[in-house]
Amino acid sequence: MNSRAHEFEIVIVGAGPAGLAAACAAAENGKRVAVLDDTPWLGGQIWRGEQAQPAQPGAQKWIERFRRSGATLIDQTSVIASPRPGVLTAEHPSGGREIRFQKLILATGARELLLPFPGWMLPGVVAAGGLQVLAKHGWPVAGKKVVVAGTGPLLLAVADGLKKYGAHVVSTAEQAPLARVAGFGLKLLLAHPGKILQGLGIKSRLLGVPQRFGVWPVRAEGDRQVRSVTLTDGQKTWTEDCDLLACGFNLVPNVELPLALSCELCDGFVRVDKWQATSVENIYCAGEPTGIGGVDCALAEGRIAGLAAAGRKDEARQLFAGRARWHRFRAAMAETFALRPEVKTLAADDTIFCRCEDATFGRVKQFSNWRDAKLQTRCGMGACQGRTCGAAARVVLGFGMESVRPPVLPARILSLLTISSDSTTIAETKITGTNQTL
Ligand SMILES: Cc1cc2nc3c(=O)[nH]c(=O)nc-3n(C[C@H](O)[C@H](O)[C@H](O)COP(=O)(O)OP(=O)(O)OC[C@H]3O[C@@H](n4cnc5c(N)ncnc54)[C@H](O)[C@@H]3O)c2cc1C
Repeated sequence: MNSRAHEFEIVIVGAGPAGLAAACAAAENGKRVAVLDDTPWLGGQIWRGEQAQPAQPGAQKWIERFRRSGATLIDQTSVIASPRPGVLTAEHPSGGREIRFQKLILATGARELLLPFPGWMLPGVVAAGGLQVLAKHGWPVAGKKVVVAGTGPLLLAVADGLKKYGAHVVSTAEQAPLARVAGFGLKLLLAHPGKILQGLGIKSRLLGVPQRFGVWPVRAEGDRQVRSVTLTDGQKTWTEDCDLLACGFNLVPNVELPLALSCELCDGFVRVDKWQATSVENIYCAGEPTGIGGVDCALAEGRIAGLAAAGRKDEARQLFAGRARWHRFRAAMAETFALRPEVKTLAADDTIFCRCEDATFGRVKQFSNWRDAKLQTRCGMGACQGRTCGAAARVVLGFGMESVRPPVLPARILSLLTISSDSTTIAETKITGTNQTL
């Protein structure tokens, strides 16, 4: 066994924009770096699928730079726990792994917030970004009537993407009022004209698609498949026919792994200092777990985290001003797309709240905290381990997440057993990475 093979100076969890930028910054400064990601791709959510033939200029630049950097990609590997300081437990399709680090950068990204409402469990009601991902990977949407609803800048990007794949986008419904979104646009015009151009490009491609603001879904209806969605602006209510309802209420940070590593949170996000260092020594965090700020913010934070972890603080300091600009953009986004109270009260008592365990909203809401609700109703204890209903419970019921227990992602018992027997190392099992094969 090569004892160095499973030990890296800097380990990065997440190969999205933040993780790639961190990896390049650290590896280009001579550090022995590994990036772990649970998907088979580089690029995270936004650049997923760009690895083979990058089309987006940003994706191409960062993926090529990563390939040249000398960093190792360990793909298809979920980090599920940290049994002791300096060690991660990970699961690869071929079994469990132990990966040791001197410094760790958490770049675990975010996921969509799904809020329950009557009919949200019908086949054809899907997460907005999730539908975009399915379409990118070849799931046929051509000719399908799609309503895109919820909140956040992702909605229009999704509508644009679906139209490109041939879907008939019936309408988009953004819950934030028009005045707030327009104010956000004005701020962008002054501070980030490039983003405005991007937005105008999307808008022009969506010409002819009704784009509504201050509108949200209240109910989806159908038989074995969604057939229509009822929307409201708080005064009028109307129904639109659809084959698919793509619905997402912005993003929630993936903070389960940081929490399992005892990193402190602030307002639901990982608390970091100016070097992107968390409250735990030698652990850094970058990208969406520190705040929902978009790809440029993730890149800026990732670069600073990578440089700081590599001991290049003077170079990291040069990037502070750029990051501050994106932090202002992040704050403006949070203000603009803040959820209106009405969307937090959409679920009826008989609406399924936890999809894995069939716990209804009526049952879950009887409890005053997440722990009691879990113990009494089993909500959050199914296959997704509360990644959907836990986030919804925080928004709808104000439940805090008191603790996280390993594994932070669903894992096979065999992986856990392999790790505890300490017999398999990544050096002994072939894991193909983009840059190296271990
Ligand atoms: C479904 C979805 C679709 C999106 N589509 C767009 C879009 O079209 N346009 C746009 O501008 N923005 C989009 N975004 C937002 C975009 O993801 C962010 O703006 C930005 O890319 C965040 O970068 P990041 O590096 O912080 O995180 P991410 O890009 O989310 O990367 C995090 C990576 O970490 C991996 N990971 C997380 N936890 C673990 C673990 N425990 N073990 C191993 N790997 C782990 C994830 O699989 C992921 O690959 C989307 C977001 C989501 C959730």
